[in-house]
Amino acid sequence: MKSNGQRLWQSLMEMAKIGATEKGGNTRLALTDLDVAGRQLLIQWAKEIDLSIYYDAVGNLFLRREGTAAVDPIVMGSHLDTQPKGGRFDGIYGVLSGLEVIRCLHEQKLQTHHPIELVVWMNEEGARFTPAMMGSAVFTNVFSLAQVLATTDKEGVSVASELKRTQQIGDLPFARPFTAYYEAHIEQGPVLENSQIEIGVVTGGQAILWLDAKTSGKAAHAGTTPMQMRKDSMIATANMMAQLEAMVLEQFPEGLITFGEISVPNSSRNTIPATVQWSIDLRHPNDDLLLKMEQETQKIIDALAEKRGVSVDVSRHWHNPATYFDTQCVATVQAAVTELGFSHQHIVSGAGHDAINLAKHCPTTMIFIPCEGGLSHNEAENISAAQAEQGADVLLNAILKADQLRALAKVS
Ligand SMILES: [Zn+2]
Repeated sequence: MKSNGQRLWQSLMEMAKIGATEKGGNTRLALTDLDVAGRQLLIQWAKEIDLSIYYDAVGNLFLRREGTAAVDPIVMGSHLDTQPKGGRFDGIYGVLSGLEVIRCLHEQKLQTHHPIELVVWMNEEGARFTPAMMGSAVFTNVFSLAQVLATTDKEGVSVASELKRTQQIGDLPFARPFTAYYEAHIEQGPVLENSQIEIGVVTGGQAILWLDAKTSGKAAHAGTTPMQMRKDSMIATANMMAQLEAMVLEQFPEGLITFGEISVPNSSRNTIPATVQWSIDLRHPNDDLLLKMEQETQKIIDALAEKRGVSVDVSRHWHNPATYFDTQCVATVQAAVTELGFSHQHIVSGAGHDAINLAKHCPTTMIFIPCEGGLSHNEAENISAAQAEQGADVLLNAILKADQLRALAKVS
């Protein structure tokens, strides 16, 4: 079955008019009037195809088409809120490609076994209210409702008061069982475009480990201390960074290492730095290999510290394990892509998504389409109508496969 690419593109462009920015982007911060206007446009489209409309107590919006059986729904969706001066597709694409899927079912008068729902998660971006992915986090019991309701923006306005003012509240229960959850999204990175791949079959989200490091040497005069007699914490740290990068490149092809913060307390250009504080961000799609990366990191630091006569304290700051999407859900996407004949590759999500929360709750997966220059969270974020259509085709066929698969599983 094929989606209607022209209709999808028209809807994307219609939605992009709400909160349009000068340079072709969108600003629809969570629970502002513009965000709600976007939701209302979606609801208007939903009514045209007879979907029922529900909210829960944290402002997640659900649009539902009944199935033939009284079973848990198959759910698609993403978010409609944006970054300040964000793009037209991040999140919006997942919602409107989901709408396109249901429009196709409606048009073909195709009855699914499962109810099909389209969800708009509240405040995915975390721009107005932090942290990000709030609505899906409350739904999946990652955050408590009370904690989120009490969160305020920079003006001191709370989520609770904005939910009430904009009337985005209902009584649909949290953590309701879902048969499966599918989220289509722009890649927000350059991998698919660089390899000229049409569809990313997303297998999960990578594990993240943040380390704090502190290199301690000896402060001394920059003009009077011979090079051989120094315990220079900066040069030692620079050497460690270079060797750590080489280690990741050589041993962990899927790994990432970043030193995003570095500071020298009491710094002076006339003094050899006594102390350097620095951050190490390690990422890998596989939990075991991330831990191996951590061990290798420690080994390199210890060896160089000894060689350079400095000491280094390394401590863990934050650890977030990898997400592994449901193999059956991934298989439905893979089968759809193969049938449709699109070029594809398996990919791991580098960014956070509502689907990462949902993966803790129900069988979940994502579908990525390329975006221009890998650019996102930017007004210039862009995709082509053809790319949008291909992703919707995959979503449509994957959902139909999931509907058949899960129906069969329940009968037998
Ligand atoms: Zn997004």
